[in-house]
Amino acid sequence: MLEKRDFYINGQWVAPIDGTDHHVIDPSTEEPTTIISLGGKADADAAVAAAKAALSGWMATPVADRIALVEKLIEVYQARAEDMAAAMSAEMGAPIDMSRSQQVGAGTYHLQNFIRAAKEFEFSRPLGDHAPNDRIIYEAVGVAALITPWNWPMNQVTLKVGAAAIAGCTMVLKPSEESPLNAMIFAEMMDEAGFPAGVFNMVNGDGPGVGTALSGHPDVDMVSFTGSSRAGKLISKNAAETLKRVHLELGGKGANVIFDDADDKAVKRGVLHMMNNTGQSCNAPSRMLVQRGKYDAAVEEAAAVAGKVTVGPASEEGRHIGPVVNEVQWTKIQDLIQKGIDEGAKLVAGGPGRPEGFNKGFYVRPTVFADVNNEMTIAREEIFGPVLSIIPFDTEEEAVEIANDTPYGLTNYVQTQDGARRNRMATQLRSGMVEMNGTSRAAGAPFGGMKQSGNGREGGIWGIEDFLEVKAVSGWAAE
Ligand code: NAD
Repeated sequence: MLEKRDFYINGQWVAPIDGTDHHVIDPSTEEPTTIISLGGKADADAAVAAAKAALSGWMATPVADRIALVEKLIEVYQARAEDMAAAMSAEMGAPIDMSRSQQVGAGTYHLQNFIRAAKEFEFSRPLGDHAPNDRIIYEAVGVAALITPWNWPMNQVTLKVGAAAIAGCTMVLKPSEESPLNAMIFAEMMDEAGFPAGVFNMVNGDGPGVGTALSGHPDVDMVSFTGSSRAGKLISKNAAETLKRVHLELGGKGANVIFDDADDKAVKRGVLHMMNNTGQSCNAPSRMLVQRGKYDAAVEEAAAVAGKVTVGPASEEGRHIGPVVNEVQWTKIQDLIQKGIDEGAKLVAGGPGRPEGFNKGFYVRPTVFADVNNEMTIAREEIFGPVLSIIPFDTEEEAVEIANDTPYGLTNYVQTQDGARRNRMATQLRSGMVEMNGTSRAAGAPFGGMKQSGNGREGGIWGIEDFLEVKAVSGWAAE
């Protein structure tokens, strides 16, 4: 078994001060692959001290130099793409082809978008023509703690590290204890790219340990967190004592509203989007709202599409879906599938238990429920597995009401050929993102939610701005 206990602090790999051993499990086999260390308060303190010491120098670096380092990071990242794909695949279960294209690809994409946005952004600019001696300066928030989940590991790490680095923040990354190995490779890449010692630090740990130590730390100026709403609340409370900035990217329960006049691919697209990454995406379209005229055909088609989704080990090439991340998630998903049945939803594909042919590994059957109503548990809770709920509706008003009747507000989806209706829907849906007719958001668009899906925006210029303070200066001398 591999042993990878060290942390990356102040430009060096160091042994934990306060560590306890933790096994990383391959969810395809349930076998432990690697021993890492979960750090404690002393490790968090050491990393924060390194970040604090590096802050003034890094903030003073010209933005062009910081951008150049991120450009170098992309080169290193691309050169080691295969290592990264294999690490994510083995620790969180993304099938290797999907890991190569989507999981690794997301990292390059975000870093490139940050570079483009930063090159166009004026970090120091006049307030306006009416006030020639007033200057607006954007400067780093300070030391940032970055706490990330396991479901899209590099997506989350690059969204935070890329933005923080360009903004001039120094940082401590605490990746999920479920998927620490990709973050350790990433730390090696930051080192190889040449970031100065202390700018980027990485400590493994869990929520009650390093996560809590960082979010309550007096020398941490900002926490950027992606994960569950449950942890987001704990972090907010813990951070309140030191009044630090808290940026939250939390869960979702997206509606995918399919009107009678939707295009022919809408149902299939919705099902496959739900199943992607084995349903472990915060922006998954998990509630499919279908207008009555199309409803019966949509249920039939959704069941057929889900029935053709194959399940298999993450190490195998191909377009199957992998296992879910761990036993806790597997059991939670099984309980929710059972609740769906018990509360009267109609099971039309999949169901409880492992798919045929598996007696090991955290595999879940691609599952579709029809005749769901929005009060059922499966329509309210984020399942985070390959489970779709189909809900009928009659009118546009009713669709908006059902879609918005959730504590979450991350992404909603709309499928209709009627442009005026699309635009009305986009303005009425209470979510940070609305994606219509299968069109993805373009490069540089902000990612983030409303309500209990969080308060931050990541990606492009919005992502960088979240790591910046706005300073208003009067009496600025003409240059
Ligand atoms: P999680 O909240 O259990 O853990 C996320 C991270 O927070 C981990 O690093 C964990 O160690 C840490 N953590 C847990 N408790 C903590 C605490 N009390 N203090 C400090 N840190 C703590 O979430 P998860 O199971 O890893 O990820 C799945 C969740 O992430 C889902 O709810 C999903 O919707 C959400 N997510 C949201 C987005 C988004 O951008 N909105 C993106 C991806 C995932």
